[in-house]
Amino acid sequence: MAYDHNNIFARILRGEIPCKKTFENTHALAFQDIAPQAPVHILVIPKGAYISLDDFTAKATPAELDGFWRAVGQVAREAELVTGGYRLIANHGANAHQEVPHFHVHILGGRALGAMLTKT
Ligand code: 5GP
Repeated sequence: MAYDHNNIFARILRGEIPCKKTFENTHALAFQDIAPQAPVHILVIPKGAYISLDDFTAKATPAELDGFWRAVGQVAREAELVTGGYRLIANHGANAHQEVPHFHVHILGGRALGAMLTKT
């Protein structure tokens, strides 16, 4: 599957669509999810054109991997989620219901999040 350069997160990266940015470094951008599912719901995306975690971990450079994952940790620390705890979600493909085809990690926290998966 080819990367879709018009997906919503590519457009956010190009500044064509606004976002509520919480953090940025050379390789990653973090912003609030438009439909939060917890008191803290932040998305972290790489600046490179990667479809999902699979694509990113197969093709990203060491500097991109380092910059991205350090951003994830820093965003969680800055959101004061470390003591209470938080959850990361990275959906890949149809079974995981990935909606936006640009790799992103959800950082969720700010309340007890319950069981990892619903039974449905
Ligand atoms: P996925 O199901 O692909 O893992 O999650 C996509 C996420 O992107 C959803 O949580 C959805 O609310 C969020 N989202 C979709 N469109 C936008 C947008 O235009 N801006 C922001 N900030 N989040 C978006």
